[in-house]
Amino acid sequence: MIEVEHFSYCYGNHTAVDDISFNIHDGEIVALIGPNGAGKSTTMKVLTTLMQPSAGKIKVAGYDIVDDPIKVRQNLGYLPENNPLYPDMLVYDALMSVAQQRNILKKHRNDAVKNVASQCGLNEVMHRPIETLSKGYKQRVGIAQAIIHKPPVLILDEATTGLDPNQIREIRDLILKIGQHKTVLISTHILQEVTAIANRVIIMNHGKIVCNDTITTLLNNPQLIQKYPNPGIEELFAFHTLPNIEQQK
Ligand code: ATP
Repeated sequence: MIEVEHFSYCYGNHTAVDDISFNIHDGEIVALIGPNGAGKSTTMKVLTTLMQPSAGKIKVAGYDIVDDPIKVRQNLGYLPENNPLYPDMLVYDALMSVAQQRNILKKHRNDAVKNVASQCGLNEVMHRPIETLSKGYKQRVGIAQAIIHKPPVLILDEATTGLDPNQIREIRDLILKIGQHKTVLISTHILQEVTAIANRVIIMNHGKIVCNDTITTLLNNPQLIQKYPNPGIEELFAFHTLPNIEQQK
């Protein structure tokens, strides 16, 4: 569903993503993690066609992101980091507006909005201005906007950052529910989120992939456990960014 081959991205002469390759298969939920500045958001922005790769080949839902960007956008939903929303819009109007931008036929728009509102638990706030919503509900609106056109692929950049523990749980459950029928790539800084949601983890550091494995294999690595008996996300990063010789000690 997502095929990335030898992809690099440079901001001027700074290489933010450095020759990475990975595949995400139909129905997988994959967590993209790594320290600040690792290249996660850059990778997501390129996958969603917001920026063009400096090198490499990327396909989403079978379409090349450079040759067929419109087809790619039709097949994917994206929740960017910081979830930009119009604060004074009513939730209903915001969703109707996205339905229109997504070319959902006028006669089907109201149904599309109703469906996505109940899917994302927004029914009771549909006629409230977005600025009056809690951060958790704002994230629900962002997710609803991302999936209103029923894309098979969903990309979520730090969907739970800044939420309180209850809101984190609610958004996590929502992602799990939506993810039953989609291919999902999610970036996060929360290890519990990775273990609760994802089947597989890709760790990036300095623009490179340093680990691409299932959660179980990752957390049961004997060398990791020996070094960090109860690893958090920072320990995972530390372990995978050490030179190989260190990992084998
Ligand atoms: P974070 O977890 O902090 O969001 P990230 O893994 O998403 O980090 P990116 O935002 O992709 O990392 O950044 C990768 C590298 O590219 C970093 O060194 C960053 O400073 C640099 N970078 C990001 N955006 C720009 C930009 N617009 N111009 C120049 N350099 C940039």
